[in-house]
Amino acid sequence: MPLIHLSPRVSYIPGGVNAGVIRGDGDAVVLVDTGVNDTAGKKAIKAVREELGGEVVAILTTHAHADHFGANAAVVKRTGARVYAPEFDEAVLRYPLLQPATLYGGADPLDTLRGGFLLAHASPVDEVIRPGPLSVAGVPVEVVSLAGHSINQVGYLVDGVFFCADVVLPAAVLDKYKIPYLFSVTDHLAALDTARAVPCQAAVPGHGPHVANLGQLVALNRALMDAVLARLLELAAGPATAEAILAGVLASFGAPVTDAPSFYLLQPTVLACLSHLHRTGKVSQTIADGRSWWTTTP
Ligand SMILES: [Zn+2]
Repeated sequence: MPLIHLSPRVSYIPGGVNAGVIRGDGDAVVLVDTGVNDTAGKKAIKAVREELGGEVVAILTTHAHADHFGANAAVVKRTGARVYAPEFDEAVLRYPLLQPATLYGGADPLDTLRGGFLLAHASPVDEVIRPGPLSVAGVPVEVVSLAGHSINQVGYLVDGVFFCADVVLPAAVLDKYKIPYLFSVTDHLAALDTARAVPCQAAVPGHGPHVANLGQLVALNRALMDAVLARLLELAAGPATAEAILAGVLASFGAPVTDAPSFYLLQPTVLACLSHLHRTGKVSQTIADGRSWWTTTP
């Protein structure tokens, strides 16, 4: 699997989830995310050994979604790498059941929500990190908060290359899923502004090819959220239940929701949209007849 080189120190392994590769002191190599499963982890180790003659000594985790940290355990087992992860998300690395349980309203998740895409192998965490400067394997790294897509997602700016995780999704992924999963819409909208302002010569999203500039991708992802929020306000004119609003949004955007995982990823996303609209005074919320009702503010 060929590395794509972006600076003297920084490359990435393109894949379903991109794995960042940073050359540190000596033959030390730092990965940014590892991928979804053991196969992805083994491929990353092989690429680092064969193409750089290096050894993985650390993993910088962007966020606690199984497709990004699912291979951590395999990499740690084979290399002894130290795992860095942002606070809060780090708990999900150690206790991965928190991901499907959170999506499923905090309850014991359906067995169909326990596949590898939502329930990863547990990963050890050696360092809990916060936004700001960090040094790993002798390399200065700036940790940038990009919370929103996950509770506390971060990006990593290294040697002019910005690993921006899932703060933006490429057009091909948005075309497929129509609406992206979000934990907090309020935080995500701020993170899009943050990401656009990070000075870099290249940006590597979690999915899709790297770009010279994030402007276009930020605009695409922002426009989509604006459209989703506008449609929610129309659907809540009723008043309406979150269930009805969710069904209306999925139909309006043609989201391919035909199984439990896709449904339980977008149900919390719609609730996150409603929390944002409530926080900004655009909808009100009441409980009546055993239901939670949402109403657009006149
Ligand atoms: Zn993600």
